[in-house]
Amino acid sequence: MAGGHGHPGQERVGTAGLAITLGNDLRSIINAARATNPGALDDPGIRERIARTWTQIELTKLLNYRALTKILKKQKNWPEVPLAKLQWSHLAQDLAELAIDMLGPNGLILRGGEGAIDGGSWARLYSFQRYTTIGAGATEVQKNIIADKAIKLPRK
Ligand SMILES: Cc1cc2nc3c(=O)[nH]c(=O)nc-3n(C[C@H](O)[C@H](O)[C@H](O)COP(=O)(O)OP(=O)(O)OC[C@H]3O[C@@H](n4cnc5c(N)ncnc54)[C@H](O)[C@@H]3O)c2cc1C
Repeated sequence: MAGGHGHPGQERVGTAGLAITLGNDLRSIINAARATNPGALDDPGIRERIARTWTQIELTKLLNYRALTKILKKQKNWPEVPLAKLQWSHLAQDLAELAIDMLGPNGLILRGGEGAIDGGSWARLYSFQRYTTIGAGATEVQKNIIADKAIKLPRK
């Protein structure tokens, strides 16, 4: 995440909250595809990915709401927070890839290039979102936290 941040658990509530942004992005990508590459929206594979991504975004929002409710009740905000962080990590990357697949070759043109879509923002997101499985806690470490603290798997 850009800028400083406080307690890691709180930072992850912040990243999980990005599910709201992902939902807005999905709607914007569909609108951009309608305007620039409408054929993609007839593709059954793309349609299934849109539905799956939308469903996962909604699930992540609910996880995040549950974490916030626990915080308001002064309870520990896990396992919802590490679960929502993991969801966000891969959803952000799935969505960035879906954008490029929906927009076609022009989706990869960066800002300033001829034919760039939405100022090249989807092309930028495609490379930038690789950080989401590292920033605010690497995926492997998040999985360890969930295994230890949420599922309480035995350690050898
Ligand atoms: C774009 C970006 C912005 C960032 N912004 C900020 C910021 O504003 N403020 C801030 O403080 N930090 C920031 N960070 C740092 C970020 O929080 C760390 O990069 C992240 O927590 C991972 O830590 P690390 O880089 O030390 O990797 P490491 O912990 O060294 O991990 C390296 C690799 O080893 C694996 N690994 C490590 N430990 C284990 C383990 N026990 N079991 C299994 N695998 C393991 C990891 O999964 C990873 O693949 C940012 C990072 C990025 C990429």
